[in-house]
Amino acid sequence: MEPAEKPARQTRQDAPLLCHRCGAILTAGCGEFYVVRIEAFCDPTPPEISLDDTIDVAAEIDALIAQMHDRSEREMMDDVHRRLTIHLCRRCYRQWMEDPTGSGAPGS
Ligand SMILES: [Zn+2]
Repeated sequence: MEPAEKPARQTRQDAPLLCHRCGAILTAGCGEFYVVRIEAFCDPTPPEISLDDTIDVAAEIDALIAQMHDRSEREMMDDVHRRLTIHLCRRCYRQWMEDPTGSGAPGS
């Protein structure tokens, strides 16, 4: 005998989407929240090296390697590049846009 068809009502994601600031439950498909993608990376400008520099390159490299030993791979990656996605409800999004750097100065 064939089992009766289950009323499969599986949502695309079981975990509710929450606003990263206030924790409000966000419903997908209602246009009531914003997806904010943040990408941060270290100054990509190569350091200026003049030929007059009398730095000891080997010593510099040794120092760098010594520094790296104290840190996890994850820490070093975070230092260079960081990308994250957050969800904000409309209210929090507006507040965030007013002060994206958290400095208290609007639009700066
Ligand atoms: Zn919110």
